[in-house]
Amino acid sequence: MRHHVTSETRLVSTGARLLRRFFDLEDPHGWAEYHCVEEAAGTLWIHCHSPRWGLPNLEFVGVPADMRGYAHQLMFEIIAHGRAGHALAPDCDIEGIFSAPLQNFRQMATLRRTDHDDPDHFGMVRIVDWTQSADSGFPRRLFAAHIMAWVEYTEDPAQKEAMCRRSLAIFPGYFLDMAAGADIVPRKVDLTDLQFRANLSAYLSLAHALFDQGRGKEGIGYLRQAIARCPGWACAYRHHLLNAYRARDRYIDFWREADIERICGDLRPANTTGPMPAPPRTAKRKPKARTRKRSA
Ligand SMILES: [Zn+2]
Repeated sequence: MRHHVTSETRLVSTGARLLRRFFDLEDPHGWAEYHCVEEAAGTLWIHCHSPRWGLPNLEFVGVPADMRGYAHQLMFEIIAHGRAGHALAPDCDIEGIFSAPLQNFRQMATLRRTDHDDPDHFGMVRIVDWTQSADSGFPRRLFAAHIMAWVEYTEDPAQKEAMCRRSLAIFPGYFLDMAAGADIVPRKVDLTDLQFRANLSAYLSLAHALFDQGRGKEGIGYLRQAIARCPGWACAYRHHLLNAYRARDRYIDFWREADIERICGDLRPANTTGPMPAPPRTAKRKPKARTRKRSA
């Protein structure tokens, strides 16, 4: 798709790009031309031209207008990922910390070949969600996770609430199998799989943001949603929480009294509730190797 290049289309001017290079030779801002073009549906096509270091031109399609800044951040990080030696080519899967250093999950995406027939955009590589096809369009799980990574840096609970709600609107997560997350080691928790499939951190952070605003009843509703989506994780987390904390507050009291089986019966879609996972063992054990099985 051809497009005009205007000051609106370009992320930064040529002068600003050269200035970026001067101050930081490794900064992806300075080494590619970034374009943002409105699509027919009102969404954005965000792509780059001629990044250095032998990397391909990358693109996102279907980006909602309010995700424009996030799309650029993700693209810079994925270019940096390629700069660090990871393959960025059609049909490659990529996995890494793409949003914020403190995030407790890795993000995953897949790269696909595109069929733009104009010479300026021929051979562009589209970033889509993990294992999805080129025509799957906007990588909603990648962006939902990106928002959640930034929530950790936000102090205002009202702003946190808004970010969590935006993340859940983009990707509400699936109801996972009953044992999903049952093998977590709470002190070293890696939420990669549960974040990817259930957007778990959005439910938990939203609950905390609501508690912090004195809206505990609403917050408990989202904790119940988290439990219903990831029952195995809920069993393991509850076991850890009640062993580690003696304090009494509304959050701990909720977990102490939570009937996980009943919550699953109330909130899970019909025919998805199986037997409860086995209770976690108290004895210390080595964490299991993370598997790549990510269905749904
Ligand atoms: Zn372009």
